[in-house]
Amino acid sequence: MRHTLFFRFAVTGFATLILVACETTNVAPIAASERPEETTDEAGLWLQMDETEKLLKSSALVENDEALNDYVQAVACRVVGPDYCPDLRVYVVKQPFFNANMAPNGQMQIWTGLLLRAENEAQLAFVIGHEFAHYRQRHSLQQWREIKNLANASLLFSMGTAVAGVPEAAVLGDFSIAARLYGFGRDKEREADELGFEFATQAGYAGEEAAAIWKYLVSEVENSDLERNRRAIARASIFSTHPVTSERIENLEALAAEAAQSGETAAAAYIEATGPFLASWLDADLVQSDFGKHIFLINHLLERDARQGVLYFRRGEAYRLRREEGDETRALEDYIKASTFEDVPPAAWREIGELQRRSGNQAQALEAYRTYLEKAPQASDKLLIESYVEALLQEQS
Ligand SMILES: [Zn+2]
Repeated sequence: MRHTLFFRFAVTGFATLILVACETTNVAPIAASERPEETTDEAGLWLQMDETEKLLKSSALVENDEALNDYVQAVACRVVGPDYCPDLRVYVVKQPFFNANMAPNGQMQIWTGLLLRAENEAQLAFVIGHEFAHYRQRHSLQQWREIKNLANASLLFSMGTAVAGVPEAAVLGDFSIAARLYGFGRDKEREADELGFEFATQAGYAGEEAAAIWKYLVSEVENSDLERNRRAIARASIFSTHPVTSERIENLEALAAEAAQSGETAAAAYIEATGPFLASWLDADLVQSDFGKHIFLINHLLERDARQGVLYFRRGEAYRLRREEGDETRALEDYIKASTFEDVPPAAWREIGELQRRSGNQAQALEAYRTYLEKAPQASDKLLIESYVEALLQEQS
């Protein structure tokens, strides 16, 4: 994951922390239900994170759907086991990027862009295992002490003031300067990968899924329309702090080969839990207007997901909005294909009507518009479509 330093430096709290002399960065793993002792720098970190968490809780960025939250929390509890389960609070955050992060106080964020891209429960479980490993190994505390021991105070101070008063950045764990300079280093990431792998496989998940999600992400980025994405420096991208993705994939594949035990992917449960959100998550992804990446993602989902009507419709939308040569034809083909599935959104019929009308196919346009009105009798554009129908009827007579 893209790990950002999870500290929101209030100036006063910060001053207290900086006065503590060089401390050891060697710390024991945190035990289940353990809390930091008062007056320690760790307690200071927790306090900061408790405040950020309060902001997050009341933020519109959090997805509140109960069924989805229960599901994700249950996967987390399965991965970390019953002892640590009460220490973790998982938040589903409405952000279209592939990301997850972990605060030292037990607050974990899973972004919807990640849930959209994970193929099954096992892939989610490996991400959670990785994040939990950062928590259990107290990586934030280690990182904090390393920075403090190395960096000069004025730099830290400017970082602190730069992030103060930007609640949205704070709740998302993105502290700009601090984040970019000090993502968790390679060693901590490797340790989190290895431990996370152990936790998730012990919980019964299929080991080969750990590398699979990273392999998919690499190919998605390669299909991006944007040079800056392909060069892997996109904001909020896992790649911005992980230039060593191929090394990570190799490590995880080696671990899976060593483990050589079969586990479950729990794909059906995953698709059932995330299914109701597919259309809205894809919509949020499309807003970025990276059509190459978006269409690649939909093609990937089409291979495994039963919701073909939704997916063909969404791909049609992407072609319609992209407007490259041949895209109108592609869009029409996808809308028509979508219309052969039960889960087709009614809007597909409206779009078929629109494209047929523009191509001069009046009979087909008329039929599609009428089907749309029949399937979406409450549509907000009902009067408009009725006027199209009227106009087409007059042209015909
Ligand atoms: Zn990490």
